[in-house]
Amino acid sequence: MSDYPAVRTLMGPGPSDIHPRVLQALARPTIGHLDPQFVALMDKVKVLLRYAFKTENPLTMAVSAPGSAGMETCFTNLMEPGDKVLVCINGVFGKRMLENVTRLGGIPVVLEFPWGEAVDPAKVEQALKADSEIAIVAFVHAETSTGVCSDPKPIADLARQHDCLTIVDTVTGLGGIELDVDGWGLDAVYSGSQKCLSCVPGLSPVTFNDRAIAKIKARTHPVPSWFLDLTLVMDYWLDSEGTGGKRAYHHTAPVNSIYALHESLVMLKNEGLENSWQRHAAMHQKLAQGLEALGLELIVDSSIRLPQLNLVKIPEGIDDAAFRKQLLEKYNLEIGAGLGAFAGKAWRIGLMGYAAREENIQLCLGAIKETLAEMRS
Ligand SMILES: *Cc1c(COP(=O)(O)O)cnc(C)c1O
Repeated sequence: MSDYPAVRTLMGPGPSDIHPRVLQALARPTIGHLDPQFVALMDKVKVLLRYAFKTENPLTMAVSAPGSAGMETCFTNLMEPGDKVLVCINGVFGKRMLENVTRLGGIPVVLEFPWGEAVDPAKVEQALKADSEIAIVAFVHAETSTGVCSDPKPIADLARQHDCLTIVDTVTGLGGIELDVDGWGLDAVYSGSQKCLSCVPGLSPVTFNDRAIAKIKARTHPVPSWFLDLTLVMDYWLDSEGTGGKRAYHHTAPVNSIYALHESLVMLKNEGLENSWQRHAAMHQKLAQGLEALGLELIVDSSIRLPQLNLVKIPEGIDDAAFRKQLLEKYNLEIGAGLGAFAGKAWRIGLMGYAAREENIQLCLGAIKETLAEMRS
């Protein structure tokens, strides 16, 4: 017998609960990655991703690796050694952006915000005014480490006014909160399959507009990663739509994971993007009310809270690790630990995609209530 894992309810920072339909899609027979049927499926995935991102960008696809690879794809292709990048940091993932910039030979200009706060456009404006050499502005839309939403539109407007490109992390945002890539004028955007899309981990939807592509085409240094070089990947993903690619072999796509992504995007389209955002908001309200009724406190100010990722203050006298262990072992329920400034101080309760539903909230509130009572007795 093989080692089948337990069936858990995933209410942490990702991966999130996966709909049975998506798991069934994953189990369909594998076909060749250049089989005409698979090529047709990739085309459908591109169209559905454009719907989810709200973009007309032809260069919209899924990188064959997790969200972190989407991040690297953006920096590796858009940035050249010596480029100045304004990196806005208000949590773990902004810090990772900084890592990308320094490792790839960019010159970072760092703008830090306290954990639990959003990126302040006024500070972005000051930084851009102070240094006209900045070429790229990078920030996180939905900071999963802190549960904070930063508003991309004003930041993107400022970037454009100062002739900069934007690199935007919406790994946790896509499908869960409002996102309008074209309407907001975002240039290079990456996401992940395993958060609000409720698909298996390991794919990173990305989208690049004409301004981003122009920057890539004008490069004077080759893209330092062969695997992530978009000029090569484009030839694999684009073509039947007349975008000039050759559909040439680049790497073997994770065929079954693409089946799963397709299914999760079909489900998102059927529900409707706006309805999905509303469901996340409504479920967040229920969870927040229930937690407050238990005497628990949400850390992030309600005006900038991510509905899909809730930071809850760990009550005085409760052992963080023991508490989460009990939820996992007794209720098969996973919630997330705090990170960075919130390590040991907060739990992160995710309501992402298929996890954002009534039954999960009841399970979560019930398990927390009983466990708190047990630990306090
Ligand atoms: C999860 C996450 C990532 C990384 O995605 P992986 O799939 O774990 O590589 C990047 N940015 C944010 C904001 C995330 O929440």
